[in-house]
Amino acid sequence: MQRLTRIGVLVASMCAPVLSAQDSPLILHPIDLPDIGDPAGALLTPTDERNLGRSLFLSLRESGDLLDDTLVNAYIQGLGDRLLASADSLGQRYYFFVVNEGSINAFAAPGGYIGIFTGLIEFADTEDELAAVMAHEIAHVTQRHMARTFEAAEQFSVPLAVAILSAVLLARGANSQVADAALFGGLAGSVQQKINFTRANEQEADRIGIGILGSAGFDPHYMGGFFARLERESRYYGEQAPEFLRTHPVNSNRVADALGRAEAWGKPKNPDPQVFELMRMRVQVLGSKDGRALLARLRDQKGALAPERRVAIRYGEALLLNQLAQYEEAARILESLLADDALRVPYYLARAESLLALGRADQALASLRQGMSLYPGDHTLTLALARASLSANDAEGAYRLLQAHNREGNADVDTWTLLAAAAAKSGHQVAAHEAQAEKYLLEDNRELAIQQLKQAQRAASDDYYARSRIATRLRELETAEEDDKKSRP
Ligand SMILES: [Zn+2]
Repeated sequence: MQRLTRIGVLVASMCAPVLSAQDSPLILHPIDLPDIGDPAGALLTPTDERNLGRSLFLSLRESGDLLDDTLVNAYIQGLGDRLLASADSLGQRYYFFVVNEGSINAFAAPGGYIGIFTGLIEFADTEDELAAVMAHEIAHVTQRHMARTFEAAEQFSVPLAVAILSAVLLARGANSQVADAALFGGLAGSVQQKINFTRANEQEADRIGIGILGSAGFDPHYMGGFFARLERESRYYGEQAPEFLRTHPVNSNRVADALGRAEAWGKPKNPDPQVFELMRMRVQVLGSKDGRALLARLRDQKGALAPERRVAIRYGEALLLNQLAQYEEAARILESLLADDALRVPYYLARAESLLALGRADQALASLRQGMSLYPGDHTLTLALARASLSANDAEGAYRLLQAHNREGNADVDTWTLLAAAAAKSGHQVAAHEAQAEKYLLEDNRELAIQQLKQAQRAASDDYYARSRIATRLRELETAEEDDKKSRP
């Protein structure tokens, strides 16, 4: 696994200027910390926590650090939601997202923002292993472990905290937004120390995570099992241990304790391991820099493979062939995969991609509609169908499809962006501006949202209902903007 080596070097070289000398970035045991249960600083309100997590998420997305793939993101969010359905999540919403970075890592930012690194998804052997790490991270949020870290800091502001977190989590130096580099360095060092959570925090997260796993029907033995495997396999890499081990030190007690607690839950078996195999393959393909080499490696996999693994390899081949513009062959593989198992959304999406590229738009649309007939309202299929309709010059169809989809409460940044494009192309100017405004709002850019709504208002001059709808929305935003200005020092 060359990946580990690369990341190890990256951590060692990039953390150095940020962390002080005593914070060796490759420590495998916990640092003794002062008790952070009794914060010296101010308490963070739930709104503060939400703002912090959200700003971190938005800043990672803006800097291109997140995996931009609707299917993988929907899968991770779905897996998280399954875990939360049984967890005492304190009525909070959680946002799971994928960080496009090869290190084996995951983190839980305040406010329910949980980042999973692509390296972790690739390293996981089973869905239960991945779920175990996610359950552990959910527990860090419910127990407010990271939030307490910031409460303990003497100075706190959201931009500073975001800068520190991105630097620490993605092993980067301070950026120019942070004026006082010395302050940043000091704080980043102490945050890094405290993110290397205390042994008590880690055991608490394991214990609560095991309960979350068990009640959601996953096998909680993978909590201890994953940490033990990670530690065992990382020995081969010497000093360059995976990032996750650095913040989650493993010892035999911890593993034994986790395995013991899991006993109470039995060992449920994943009823459909194929889903995870396909998603892990997709992550591997999306992250590969040399498609040809990966294709050769996949075709070279010999020996006794589990049937799900073999199917995933075929899927990976098809994705790579699409990347390499060998669409005919990709379509042929997907056809045969669908003949064996017609219930997999990823196949419909990939086949539509091949067919569109081959100029067979009608067949692409038919493939996506076939998928939609099995999974009505599916988010990824809907977006793909809208995109395909747009490229087949059916902007009106895309517009109507997305309008209906949004009415079901599915709107996210991707949907609003696509809807704005479809609306503009099909001559619905008012709706185009309104969609653009909602997209900006989701990106926390209220000023641009207000501008768009004002344009929408002008475009709606002869439509009374649209005008009053927009006026109401505009008033909401302008009031919020003024309240913000008042509360700013
Ligand atoms: Zn942890």
